[in-house]
Amino acid sequence: MTLPDWRDESSFGSMIRAGLWLETEVGEGNVFTKAQLREAFAGVAQIDRRLRDLRSHGWQIDTRREDPTLEQDEQRYVKRGAEVWIPGQAKAKAQSTLTAAQRTKTMQQDNYLCRSCGIGSGETYEDGSSTAQLDIARRKVRLPNGKTETQLVTECIKCRIGGRSREEDLAGMVEQVKALSAIERQVLAGWIKADRRDRGVLERLWGHYRALPGEARAVLAAAVNGETKQEG
Ligand SMILES: [Zn+2]
Repeated sequence: MTLPDWRDESSFGSMIRAGLWLETEVGEGNVFTKAQLREAFAGVAQIDRRLRDLRSHGWQIDTRREDPTLEQDEQRYVKRGAEVWIPGQAKAKAQSTLTAAQRTKTMQQDNYLCRSCGIGSGETYEDGSSTAQLDIARRKVRLPNGKTETQLVTECIKCRIGGRSREEDLAGMVEQVKALSAIERQVLAGWIKADRRDRGVLERLWGHYRALPGEARAVLAAAVNGETKQEG
């Protein structure tokens, strides 16, 4: 398929031309600089912003914020989104940008923590590489009624990059919960309430049990089975 000419100012607006330019001159996966963009679109006001507008049509263009391997003035054209140069596409696929209220509500309900790795805003990653920046990710969730919907979740930039195409099988998880024993469900409910996973008494006992000498293990095993074992 031949793409329209990105230079065609009479047929297309700046955002569409920027998309065509990415496709024709940069190519998916490749890096370009702000200088290259401005040179190609000399005289076009706010071309940076028009380029960013493509993101709300499903285009993935990473900056240093999403991809720390990039230099300050570099961006990577990762993936094409809607073919905005086809009439109707630009409107049809537009994904609404999040409002400040949506962002705040999501962060509040997520306790201002990355739901994937648990890091808080401004905290340093364990490897000491950088401090965490929180953002809102869209996550596909398969609901128990069989439908899939997009929900919002707080994630740090690192985890967001890793989790882009993730889809959560809530329906399957609900089925698994139904199959849990009463005790398992009670333990899980405790973690959910505390929003953290504590090492419960079972795990602590198991850890100690494993490390015991053989004779001592036998005594404990017998106790678990409801028997009392006399010390020899
Ligand atoms: Zn994270």
